[in-house]
Amino acid sequence: MFDIQKVREDFPILSRTVYGKPLVYLDNAATTQKPRAVVESIANEYYSVNANVHRGVHFLSQQATEHYEAARETVRKFINARTTNEIVFTRGTTESINLLASSFVESQMKPGEEVIVSNMEHHSNIVPWQVEAAKCGIAIKVIPINDKGELLLDEYEKLFSPKTKLVSIVHVSNVLGTINPVKKMIQIAHAHGVPVLVDGAQSIPHMKVDVQDLDADFLAFSGHKVYGPTGIGVLYGKEDWLDRLPPYQSGGEMIQSVSFEKTVFNELPFKFEAGTPDYVGSVSLARALDYVSALGMDNIFAHEKELTNYAMKRLKEIEGMRIYGESEQKSGVVSFLVGQIHHLDMGTLLDQLGIAVRTGHHCAQPLMIRYGIEGTVRASFGLYNTLAEVDALVDGIKRVMKMF
Ligand code: PLP
Repeated sequence: MFDIQKVREDFPILSRTVYGKPLVYLDNAATTQKPRAVVESIANEYYSVNANVHRGVHFLSQQATEHYEAARETVRKFINARTTNEIVFTRGTTESINLLASSFVESQMKPGEEVIVSNMEHHSNIVPWQVEAAKCGIAIKVIPINDKGELLLDEYEKLFSPKTKLVSIVHVSNVLGTINPVKKMIQIAHAHGVPVLVDGAQSIPHMKVDVQDLDADFLAFSGHKVYGPTGIGVLYGKEDWLDRLPPYQSGGEMIQSVSFEKTVFNELPFKFEAGTPDYVGSVSLARALDYVSALGMDNIFAHEKELTNYAMKRLKEIEGMRIYGESEQKSGVVSFLVGQIHHLDMGTLLDQLGIAVRTGHHCAQPLMIRYGIEGTVRASFGLYNTLAEVDALVDGIKRVMKMF
């Protein structure tokens, strides 16, 4: 598929040590490490171009604008959007969802109308709807899950009524790893005349996502989870939807003309990009997308699937192991608890062995409530992880268990 050792050399941080031990980085669902190409592109852009986009007539400004708009085209191609008018740069998934929640609810919904989300959402796909609910009197309906961590599609269908105006659903759970059948869920929503926002934070880095094939109306994702920089992300929206929606923030860049009597907003996608954008972030995100595209999203998916299957098999050999998220359709996230060991103790002691995992509620407290737990230990894989690192995790857990 690809040469994993060569790939690892592209990520300088992977060869560092922590507490004198080789770093085993298994917190990729939180953020991914950056390849040289991404870090160098940040430096190059600041060293040799740096200017404000869309504003200046001078050479640097024109070049910065060209790079920014070329990055938008790279994103368009990556998710197969129809036009770059459908690609809005944001600060990340959270800002993308906030943008849509504010803009959609306040322009398209009336009190008493409903948004459907699921029991496995990240807080960033719950709280923005609650904030809008408090402001505008909308209601939130929740798709339940089974014990394996799969959405109950029969129950999903039953939630629709004439009051349903939007479905906002996570593509891949950051806790369970479940890959939700979003294409089918979008078909069901569309049969009721309801548009769908897909939270792609955990799918974009790990699999091919084609917005036209899914027929998604909106898609949100973060650059830092797909080997790009922090502080940059994307909201994709079908052009006819984005045209209908009002701006989220206002100020410079998003206007065509301003007088004290009347302001005319800019065209798409600039209507949604108020202020000086993080153009360097956009350009470096494009380099990250180039990087994963060169390896092949299908190859990345297959590699991470192998790691996940191996991890599930080896972890299940451990006595007292409880795994959360056992769907057949599962990506590279494994959440677990062992015996009576607190997740925080397990995470802290694994860290002492050089193994970076995440512990806690993973910004998904309603899901923790569903399982009657406070938190889990979570190992999440990226394209550079190896089977030997899975072995290191299993050995680490066994060592921690001996201490208790
Ligand atoms: N949605 C999911 C499924 C996530 O896993 C995350 C981050 O962990 C987010 C949304 C929020 O992403 P960000 O913090 O980059 O905005």
